[in-house]
Amino acid sequence: MSSSSGWTPGTWDYDVLIVGGSLVGLTLAAWLGPHGLRVLVVEAQEGLAGTAARVYAVMPLTERIWQAVGVWPQLKAVLQLYERIDLTDQGQHPIVFTPTDLGGRPWLGSVGEQRCLWPVMREFIAQTPNVTYWEGTRLLDMVVTPTAAKATLERQGQLLHLSVGLVVGADGARSQVRQRAGIKTWAWPYWQSCLTTVLYADEPPVAYERFWPAGPLALLPLPDHRWGIVWTLPHQDAQRLLPASAEEFLAHLRPYLPFTEVTEVGPRHCFPVEWRQARRYVQPRLALIGDAAHRCHPVGGQGMNLGIRDAATLGEVLVTAHQRGEDIGQLPVLRRYERWRWPQVLLSLLFTDTLNRVFSQGWEPLVTMRALVLQTMQRVGVLRRLSLHFMTGLWGRLPSSL
Ligand SMILES: Cc1cc2nc3c(=O)[nH]c(=O)nc-3n(C[C@H](O)[C@H](O)[C@H](O)COP(=O)(O)OP(=O)(O)OC[C@H]3O[C@@H](n4cnc5c(N)ncnc54)[C@H](O)[C@@H]3O)c2cc1C
Repeated sequence: MSSSSGWTPGTWDYDVLIVGGSLVGLTLAAWLGPHGLRVLVVEAQEGLAGTAARVYAVMPLTERIWQAVGVWPQLKAVLQLYERIDLTDQGQHPIVFTPTDLGGRPWLGSVGEQRCLWPVMREFIAQTPNVTYWEGTRLLDMVVTPTAAKATLERQGQLLHLSVGLVVGADGARSQVRQRAGIKTWAWPYWQSCLTTVLYADEPPVAYERFWPAGPLALLPLPDHRWGIVWTLPHQDAQRLLPASAEEFLAHLRPYLPFTEVTEVGPRHCFPVEWRQARRYVQPRLALIGDAAHRCHPVGGQGMNLGIRDAATLGEVLVTAHQRGEDIGQLPVLRRYERWRWPQVLLSLLFTDTLNRVFSQGWEPLVTMRALVLQTMQRVGVLRRLSLHFMTGLWGRLPSSL
């Protein structure tokens, strides 16, 4: 690989190097490539990137972003659409959200698995102009000069040196890009972990969010009557149930479910939960998106959706700068992304944190207050609609092409 000295457009090996080829990194590549930016995506894992067992609630805004890049019809085919969200506190005071609350769309949202979504996205990227994808490749080092970022990659036992205009960290919560850049974070761990598994139940597809004093339980409808379970519990309880037999596990879970005729059909996993916000999202020739920039409690299924919105926002900022003939790695360009996205993400992170803290409590006065709030929301349509727009990402400044 050559290296450049003295910036003029096109003298880099690639305009943008995206480190991390999961859904967030690939969405950014799909946004940039068709606009003439030359993109290299490097992914450490061979084959499937990200966490294979992950089940995502996909929000309407993510759907719109995937529509804008042109991959939505293919992704829709592997997603389960649902028309109802059912939220309860200890099984009581239900709030039911329907498509009417979002202005009468045919469905409210959808649910999919990483193992099904990622191959579709990868196939789409293979057809996207100007995008190169290298699996089994990891970023080892990077040095920023005024005119380029010099990245050292390890690929099949070989070291490669590349000169790029911008490095984007889409490399997850333990981001090497963020750590090498010395970007600090505000973070705290929760007292809870998430147990995940897949159940079978012959029930209509409804997305359930059920709050219990130990933590929220989400049941997300998947194709073929399967259900993704994300059960938040104190660490010790989650660890104790992780190796339990299916009978023992379901005996514990059943009292918290909206229906009881269930069987366990997937492997069980346990993830500790944390809150994290990077103090900066950008530096000269560097930007962070997705879990590399922020991490939140899984309640409300926000994390990946926030990352996809980062990708669309950074994509729009970079394409506009490129079209104006600006150097896309310069701080003033990148600060447009940070100013736009950092406060929006902070609001969402604080919202999920508050939701978890307020609902993971059995203290009577708080239980009474929650009941009042939930009953009011169920009765007052405008409150229900506002909260749903917020949770589904349909608020705040959006990229203009959406
Ligand atoms: C239990 C649980 C349930 C969740 N449910 C939802 C949900 O319903 N909806 C939702 O929106 N979010 C959900 N989330 C959050 C969501 O999983 C994350 O926000 C999302 O996966 C982040 O995506 P990412 O691409 O930023 O990072 P990751 O998915 O972590 O991907 C990072 C990629 O970078 C690669 N990589 C790392 N280092 C390097 C390197 N040095 N070089 C090259 N490649 C590298 C990794 O191999 C990986 O493929 C949940 C999280 C948990 C824990």
